[in-house]
Amino acid sequence: MCDTDENPAGTVRAGDIPSFEECVTFHGHVCPGLALGYRVAAAAMEALGVRRPYDEELVAVAETDACGVDAIQVVTGCTAGKGNLVIRDYGKHAFSFFSRESGRAVRVRTCYSNAGGQDEVSLLRKKVFSHTATPAEESRYRELVKDSAMRILSLPAEQVVIVEEIEMEPPSMARIYNTVICSCCDEPVADGKTRLVDGKYVCIPCAEGSSPRKKGV
Ligand SMILES: [Zn+2]
Ligand SMILES: [Zn+2]
Repeated sequence: MCDTDENPAGTVRAGDIPSFEECVTFHGHVCPGLALGYRVAAAAMEALGVRRPYDEELVAVAETDACGVDAIQVVTGCTAGKGNLVIRDYGKHAFSFFSRESGRAVRVRTCYSNAGGQDEVSLLRKKVFSHTATPAEESRYRELVKDSAMRILSLPAEQVVIVEEIEMEPPSMARIYNTVICSCCDEPVADGKTRLVDGKYVCIPCAEGSSPRKKGV
């Protein structure tokens, strides 16, 4: 990888972080939300001077559960499964990142507003998602959405994201649970996720009567 190689995120060199294409493979489609998440992740890592973490060095708190979260996971390595991604869905495209190594934290939010062409996109989106779009309308919609994502990837960082250093308490480490057997359904369950019902430890679905109903039973 040579120094002149550039990925779509402008100032971020390819090789430093996963490519946008890797995010698309994970997410399943190209969209502006994913592109914004990509720029947020790249900006956060640059601001904190961190590389993709091996384990829980970096922690992300996402204020949305939308498309952008998938780019955050691929690029920063803060993932739902590792426990270093916390989602507090406030419906805001803002993300905080805490580096355990340096104790520094930044909050990155998007300042990009889609200029022009949004009426056409909204109209086409309605048609595409209600399955009433013609093949030409559908491909026009995909083209507009892709153009919008590519524009987000090509703009200078300051036109897409705002990075602010914040005070943040170190988030607690992911808990490691032991496994016990639910007294009701006999399935293994993490001990920290059980409820005491009539003196017996049961899993939450059994305690709440919300276990998945097996077909034909
Ligand atoms: Zn998406
Ligand atoms: Zn159970």
